[in-house]
Amino acid sequence: MKRPPATSEYSAGGVVYRRNGADYDIAVVQRARHNDWSLPKGHIEAGESREQAAIREVQEETGLDARIVSSLGEVVYFYRRPGGDLIRKVVYHYLMEITGGEPGGPNWEVSEVRLLPITDALTLLSYENDHMIVEKAKGMLG
Ligand code: ATP
Repeated sequence: MKRPPATSEYSAGGVVYRRNGADYDIAVVQRARHNDWSLPKGHIEAGESREQAAIREVQEETGLDARIVSSLGEVVYFYRRPGGDLIRKVVYHYLMEITGGEPGGPNWEVSEVRLLPITDALTLLSYENDHMIVEKAKGMLG
């Protein structure tokens, strides 16, 4: 029997940074509902560009205002919804510089926001593809 095709979902977010001396701090978020640490990101809404979605989601999840510096490419992964549907997820990542705001407290999506030196952020991040995106950002930041 032929398998039903996976439904696709699209999100945007990225590596949100500010300079800290000779190094950079980046934002990572903890999500209790997935029991993970990830880069801030979220669903692209109808009528929104990928860049607009990344900026909005970063603001909503972290409390930080940020501007897009450059694209970091995309990651693709598959997961199953509780009902069993297979989802193909595409996340468009951007290098984003913090322009204002402060890391926010817990909200419905995020249980904790941390701004950490890149090395410390990497030890928290749960997913290998997030690590690869951060390494790419690190290379661009120099
Ligand atoms: P968002 O609105 O931020 O896109 P979501 O909660 O709808 O988030 P995901 O963050 O994609 O969806 O989480 C769905 C499933 O995929 C969870 O089981 C989660 O553990 C897993 N997941 C999340 N991020 C990654 C990733 N970078 N690589 C692999 N699996 C991931």
